[in-house]
Amino acid sequence: MTDTNLTAVLFEQNDLRMEDCPIPLPGPGQVLLEMKEVGICGSDVHYWTHGRIGDFVLKAPMVLGHEASAIVSKLGEGVTNLKVGDRVAIEPGVPCRRCNYCKNGRYNLCLEMKFCATPPYNGNLARFYVHDADFCFKLPDHVTFEEGALLEPLSVAVHATNRAGLKLGNTVLVCGAGPIGLVNIITAKAKGASLVCATDIDSSRLEMAKKLGADFTVQVTSRDPLVTVQAIEEALGDKADVAIECSGAAPSLKTAIYATKSGGVVVLVGLGQEMVELPVVNAGVREVDIRGIFRYVNCYPTALAMIASGKVDVKPLVTHRYKLEESIKAFEAAKRGEGIKIMISCDRSKK
Ligand code: NAD
Ligand code: ZN
Repeated sequence: MTDTNLTAVLFEQNDLRMEDCPIPLPGPGQVLLEMKEVGICGSDVHYWTHGRIGDFVLKAPMVLGHEASAIVSKLGEGVTNLKVGDRVAIEPGVPCRRCNYCKNGRYNLCLEMKFCATPPYNGNLARFYVHDADFCFKLPDHVTFEEGALLEPLSVAVHATNRAGLKLGNTVLVCGAGPIGLVNIITAKAKGASLVCATDIDSSRLEMAKKLGADFTVQVTSRDPLVTVQAIEEALGDKADVAIECSGAAPSLKTAIYATKSGGVVVLVGLGQEMVELPVVNAGVREVDIRGIFRYVNCYPTALAMIASGKVDVKPLVTHRYKLEESIKAFEAAKRGEGIKIMISCDRSKK
């Protein structure tokens, strides 16, 4: 059989093409992976439609995709943690391992991070792809490739709830019930939140939030954050111990601050406007901590353990499935905002 490497290459803004690319060779410490499942993330769609996210600008053709699982098909020199045929989830960001951020255990902040499908680094929506072996996590047999791909967004929630200092019995507000808000709801419940309240402007997203374990949902209908805050407080019986903002919408960030208890924590997950006006005096005098997060750090093992043990079920997030050959169709569906998580199968044996 002659292997080809069908690959989703973003040439420039609005120019995504399926190309046959050379099969890469694994270098020392790397593995060649035969890709299995790749989820589409909002950032992949944004690079396609806008050609940039903030300071990351597409200047040369780039392969999309970073929420992925695969099978190991060839070992580079010195790889001992994996063998050919292993089923793995791919943590998409490989840091330098040498700088102070890396050495202090916050490798997500490494300035030399090579992250799949963040320019100038290629992603893995392809038949074959090479990655560093120590950023591949072996999946137990009962964990599916789709679940392996979903470890990526789930890891964002593991990190956000870690940064929130979420404790057993806490009440939690999750603002925005897109894929990232939804994994935060699931993770907060798994970590022992007593009550979770989710907000969104879209009622179908709130239905999904309920299905995945939110105790209450509040549909945002007013631009006045205090109207939403009142509904949240009525649902939870008080303000929340922790708020996890996953919409990136400026009014929602205000809501998150006002709806958090004095001494509580607001975690900024959603990334929206560069500059926003916030009630900082309110947050300041009530000692509400506002903390950012950037992706995840050392979270893949936890996310995998949560899935493997059955503590969380992320499978209902997948609402649409396409084949690698149909990637452009899949991206068009994602652009129209259809469903929750769109999965692309790179597996030739799958019908
Ligand atoms: P998404 O666009 O699918 O979800 C956002 C949700 O927020 C939507 O359901 C939308 O209807 C809702 N929303 C919009 N305005 C709202 C408002 N005023 N109040 C409440 N809800 C509102 O995106 P996603 O994939 O779920 O990602 C969510 C955010 O997280 C994005 O901004 C993304 O860039 C960010 N993100 C950040 C990190 C990080 O490391 N910090 C990682 C991944 C994603
Ligand atoms: Zn580093």
